[in-house]
Order: sequence, then structure tokens, then C-alpha cells
Amino acid sequence: MAEAISPALRREVAGRAKHQCEYCRMPEAALLAGCEVDHIIGRKHGGLTDAANLALSCERCNRAKGTDVGSVIRPGDTFVRLFNPRLDVWHDHFQLDGSSIKPLTAIGEVTVRLLQLNAPDRVLQRQVLQAGGAYPLS
Ligand SMILES: [Zn+2]
Repeated sequence: MAEAISPALRREVAGRAKHQCEYCRMPEAALLAGCEVDHIIGRKHGGLTDAANLALSCERCNRAKGTDVGSVIRPGDTFVRLFNPRLDVWHDHFQLDGSSIKPLTAIGEVTVRLLQLNAPDRVLQRQVLQAGGAYPLS
């Protein structure tokens, strides 16, 4: 059974993230169901339910990420860990290219691919929000 995240811990995680997904930067206010609290290192890998291992994530990013901690890049099938919002700075690994999220590093590359950050419907949603000045927030 999943360990419960207290309302106070959720508030801390959401406030720290400025109420936007820490992977795709989707504002929580733009999402019908809001954001979720993601275990960056999944509990099955020994990740703890504490603020240092938690990130605010939209449902799409969280579902696509699941308990994964990385992926492989070719050639060579080199393992590369996913973007970690507690260790990494978003702009070091990604940049917006219109409404698409362009990876700048291997970490960015595996994260964009695994979390499907540029799925056509997600790019379209960003486009609509950008037109209204609601993406990105910061
Ligand atoms: Zn997201």
C-alpha cells in the first residue's frame, strides 16, 4: 500500500514547485485534476517519502515515468538517469522550442522520450496556454 503523503507535505512540494509540473512545467491551475506528488526515486527502488525525494508532477508525466529512474540511449545502450528536479536545473537540460520541449543533454533526451513530453496533444495544449500567456509561468 502506498504511503500517504500528508496535506502539509503536499503543500510544501507544490509550493516549492510554484504549482507547476517539475518535468513539463505545466501549471497546476491548467489541469483539471491538478498535479500529483511523484516519488523521484520510486519506493520500490528505496526512495523515501520525504521532501528531498518528491516532485510535483502532472498526471501525464507521472504515469509515463512510473517507477522508472532512467533509460538507455543509443548507440551503445548507455544507461542515463532521468531528470531529477531535486538535483538538476530544468534550463540546464531542456529548452522550449516553440511549444516543444527540446532536450539539451542526455538526461534531457531520455526524460523527453520516456515521459513523452512532446506527444502531439501535449504540444498543442502548451500552444493554447502560451497563446493565453499561461505557459510557462517562470
Ligand atoms: Zn508534466
